[in-house]
Amino acid sequence: MSRKTLNLSERLHDYLLSVSLREPELLQRLRAETAREPQANMQIAPEQGQLLALLVQLIGARRTLEIGVYTGYSSLWVGLVLPPQGRIVACDNNEAWTAVARRYWEEAGIAHKVDLRLGEATDTLAQLIDEEEGGAFDFAFIDADKENYDTYYERCLELLRPGGLVAIDNVLWGGRVADPEVRDGDTMAIRALNEKLQADARVYLSLVPIADGLTLAYKLP
Ligand code: SAH
Ligand code: CA
Repeated sequence: MSRKTLNLSERLHDYLLSVSLREPELLQRLRAETAREPQANMQIAPEQGQLLALLVQLIGARRTLEIGVYTGYSSLWVGLVLPPQGRIVACDNNEAWTAVARRYWEEAGIAHKVDLRLGEATDTLAQLIDEEEGGAFDFAFIDADKENYDTYYERCLELLRPGGLVAIDNVLWGGRVADPEVRDGDTMAIRALNEKLQADARVYLSLVPIADGLTLAYKLP
């Protein structure tokens, strides 16, 4: 039995990508454009985008939520595999970054699938709940400010149908979650949510050690 996830060397990671990544040209171009931004490391890894796109197809998702859009890389992976009637409610509070995203949604021919809601994501989710959209979504990807992660998780869970899936990014937080001496707000918030999820009977759980850690929480029917 292999008890431990392999520690990927550069060489092995390059190999993994060389035999499995199928990154469309437009996504390659967006990644290259974003790489010139000072905060480019906020973007998810390509193999992780491909995993999200696989999951979205696997559960036959139509209505999806994205919390944290940035320049649109993760939403583009999802948007490209959603059926023509598919929708992404995309939440972010940064106009400049999401303007880049809009440009790529247009070019990909998926702009009609994306409903960008500029503002505090906690408010947007509360508004959707007020509009009685509870249970109306199939998939949610949480990747915005970490101190609000618990609120995002709770609101997304309410907005998902039974059998829907929440994916949460950065749950290993560069390893800081496992170091009890690290006690800053972001680390504490992620650590608290990880511990809460371990005991959360509403979901079936897997923490996938891809990139910076991706938790999958399946809302039990
Ligand atoms: N999923 C994206 C990366 C998201 S980075 C990708 O793969 O490319 C995090 C994003 O969360 C940033 O764009 C930031 O503007 C947004 N954000 C941070 N705090 C927020 C808040 N309180 N409400 C809405 N969006 C927020
Ligand atoms: Ca992230």
